[in-house]
Amino acid sequence: MTFENQPLRSLNGFRMTGRDVPDTGSVTLVSPSAIGAINRGRVLQALYDNGPTSRADLARMAGVNRTTVTGIVQPMIKEKLLVEGKAGRPAAQGGKPARPLYFNPDAPMLGAVLLLPGSIQTCLVSLTGEISAHRRAVFDPNGDVDAFVATMKETLGKTLSEAKQPPFGIGVAAGGMIDSDNGVIVAVNLAPVLSGLPLVGILRDHFGLQVVIDHHPRALLVGDRWFGPGRGQQNFAAIYTGEVLGGAFYMDGKVYRGLAGSGGELGHTIVQIDGLRCNCGKRGCWETLGTLSWLRAQAAEAGIDDPLDIDCARLVRLAREGSEAAMDLLDRYARNIAIGIANLQQTLSLNAYILHGDAATGGTMIADLVRRHVEDFVMMRPNQEISILVNGKGEGHTALRGAAGLVVSDHLKLVI
Ligand SMILES: [Zn+2]
Repeated sequence: MTFENQPLRSLNGFRMTGRDVPDTGSVTLVSPSAIGAINRGRVLQALYDNGPTSRADLARMAGVNRTTVTGIVQPMIKEKLLVEGKAGRPAAQGGKPARPLYFNPDAPMLGAVLLLPGSIQTCLVSLTGEISAHRRAVFDPNGDVDAFVATMKETLGKTLSEAKQPPFGIGVAAGGMIDSDNGVIVAVNLAPVLSGLPLVGILRDHFGLQVVIDHHPRALLVGDRWFGPGRGQQNFAAIYTGEVLGGAFYMDGKVYRGLAGSGGELGHTIVQIDGLRCNCGKRGCWETLGTLSWLRAQAAEAGIDDPLDIDCARLVRLAREGSEAAMDLLDRYARNIAIGIANLQQTLSLNAYILHGDAATGGTMIADLVRRHVEDFVMMRPNQEISILVNGKGEGHTALRGAAGLVVSDHLKLVI
């Protein structure tokens, strides 16, 4: 094979991707000034993953000496990003008692927005994940774009005005197809008013703050990673079910985004050849079997009362009360969710899946059913464990924290 036939070369320590490689090839090196930012990011990430930690423990975890760690953390204490907690018990060797470091609850907050068809939620999130100044507004999904932008600016403006000091930035979690590189909402089937909207530029110009946007399921994943059951994990996926089905991956310690953030359109992976017609126009998408519209239709067919009001939480309740029809439908819903997860497991071997949205309202009962079906579908390896978790915090809560997490990742140069 000639050199020209090998445009993607991989050299140890050099990051080279299809997009980064011009005709002549190029390498991305870390400049000495960037190393400081990276070290700072790694220390902050260790604090997120491990909770309050002393300098000595940070040094031990990083394999460096205490002086090096002090050199990294001292400026962040001065900036009031980190604080030293109360001293613990004296060290066994009789040294000075360790004072754990953690995020300063009084550090600048993060602005967060959750934008779904017809609804806006805004809030402030502290670096430790506490939510405040939460506001909601509605908009007409088929209405006028200027009216939407005015509502968005007003709602977010009121939230931001409650911050004691200027926030680090604003993170937006949005439903639909998102171009996270260019800050544009590409298309939203259920809210055409948002399609083509360059929301990041609009908010940045209006508020004068750094703004980042990402796909709603990816914000759930980031929320799981920073503040939820994904904390400290290296591999997992977040799966959202509701009126739509979506997901996102955390692989080998990084969020997978794909080209311009287009990765993770899991709802439209085909699980049934010539299956039911999907909102996207194709047939047999995972979304046709794992969403509330499927559940409502099946509940009506099974003779369950008020089928239009069915959701996973109610189905679990009815099943616990002894309804065989509800138990049967719950099991089939779990199986439909499991088939998509099994395909992911066979492809990526992530082993951990966190359910959000409607499925998460079913708690451990649906999680156990999904896990059993996934184990039936996949070829299990010896000693392999697949965990299906639910994030019980509520999707709005996790998505808002995730939106804030996007800013944390970007502003603090964390690896995610
Ligand atoms: Zn589809």
